[in-house]
Amino acid sequence: MKNDDHIVVDDNKDTVDNICEECRKEHESVKQNLIMHSYKICNSCNLSKRIFPL
Ligand SMILES: [Zn+2]
Repeated sequence: MKNDDHIVVDDNKDTVDNICEECRKEHESVKQNLIMHSYKICNSCNLSKRIFPL
């Protein structure tokens, strides 16, 4: 990986918030789940998704 890897907008990473797209609540797990699962959701929503998959 190079540093000039500008595929998306530069400031995108820094402006990523921790707002869950499911429950609209802010939680630090949202960013982690976004990286891990590509879902912008908190842990509790992630859990309910596993129990009740869409
Ligand atoms: Zn949530």
